Amino acid sequence: MVAPSCSLLHVPVDLGQETKLDREVKGWLAFAVQKLDEVAVLTRGLDEGEAAIAAQLQASDAAVRSRQTSTRVHRPEVSARLAGVTADMERRASAYPQRRLAQQAKLRLPLFPTTTIGSFPQTPEVRRARAALGRTEMSAAEYEKIVEGWIDDAIRWQEELGLDVLVHGEFERNDMVKYFGEQLSGYAFTQHGWVQSYGSRCVAPPIIWGDVLRPVPMTVRWSAYAQSRTSRPMKGMLTGPVTMLQWSFVRDDMPRAVVCRQIALAIRDEVADLEAAGITVIQVDEPAFREGLPLRHVDWAEYLGWSVACFRLASSSVGDATSIHTHMCYAEFNDIMAAIADLDADVISIETTRSRMELLDAFAPRQEDGGGGYPAEIGPGVWDIHSPRVPDAQEMAELLGLARQRLEDWQIWVNPDCGLKTRKWEEVRPALESLVAAARHLRRQA
Ligand code: GLN
Ligand code: ZN
Repeated sequence: MVAPSCSLLHVPVDLGQETKLDREVKGWLAFAVQKLDEVAVLTRGLDEGEAAIAAQLQASDAAVRSRQTSTRVHRPEVSARLAGVTADMERRASAYPQRRLAQQAKLRLPLFPTTTIGSFPQTPEVRRARAALGRTEMSAAEYEKIVEGWIDDAIRWQEELGLDVLVHGEFERNDMVKYFGEQLSGYAFTQHGWVQSYGSRCVAPPIIWGDVLRPVPMTVRWSAYAQSRTSRPMKGMLTGPVTMLQWSFVRDDMPRAVVCRQIALAIRDEVADLEAAGITVIQVDEPAFREGLPLRHVDWAEYLGWSVACFRLASSSVGDATSIHTHMCYAEFNDIMAAIADLDADVISIETTRSRMELLDAFAPRQEDGGGGYPAEIGPGVWDIHSPRVPDAQEMAELLGLARQRLEDWQIWVNPDCGLKTRKWEEVRPALESLVAAARHLRRQA
């Protein structure tokens, strides 16, 4: 029997439909139809002898060789930079307790600070504008003006509501991985490369085919604009290296850990540029951190070693007073808690509403480990954003009460479970109003 080595459920259908892919890159890829073609060719070779498939074998060898020797795939400046990474680059200058003092002095946030996870509703209007830009019916300048208008509105009403750390809303993003991949070299995108992600949902993951490099800043323009419109801290918003890797098709000619480090260096440059542009809170999203864990437990330590190192490489260039946040959606944290703490973020936000804060048990001090507990700040989500239901302030305050049983007051941030891009403005406004009210209620109690 000759068969493909993986289920075809996990590869896109047909490379032949990709009319916009770079021709050379296309020569290095095979989707389901192409894999089946190869199965047929191999079968024929076995039945009729190699001579019968000489042309196909030659073409295949040529493709492999061109990829091995391509200077578009292997970029000396990327390998040189990776070789130059030092242990210091994976470490913040000071330990968390000292950073906390510097951040308090700079940000002057109240107890139980409020924030959101990044995105605001991707309304039909937002998607229409992006589509018009894509079809070149709208100029880049016009598009930027429109997005700036949305950012202005978002800032105004976040200030009115009384949120403490603001976000610009991610209106410019199609997707949290694609948006960045499109601006990095080494990435390609398909028109029809859909695969099932979970349930009936599909995604078209980017393809990482070459060394990853960040030619120019990716988000600084939007974050700097947003910060210029408010005196409150504006949170910069990036997708982390592990999630960028995990939600893409990854080249198979080098270890995933090395690809991840290349991405980490690209994100590191973005973090440094955001800080230089006056952004003092930077969130590096890693919702795919846990799902990257290998199936076999014996392989966990290796994965956690390089994935934590990549996050730290991406986020550690900043000064003590710059606060690094990370966000992880829903995950089982119990068995990877040491690695989560090792990320050394100043604040982590997670999804805890549906579990009624039970997930926080992993972050609470435990007698077995000498009573330590998670060393930094945590934003346990108090609004389940997967549902259109709008919770009131009392429900949120109750959840926060449960969080206070597990954490110290100084550790607790108040935020929704995740980004709000799938919600409607009619839900977002009252829910965030309640969220701010819940935080204020807690401040009065503390
Ligand atoms: N910053 C992203 C957003 O708000 C995070 C999304 C995610 O964690 N999946 O949309
Ligand atoms: Zn999330």
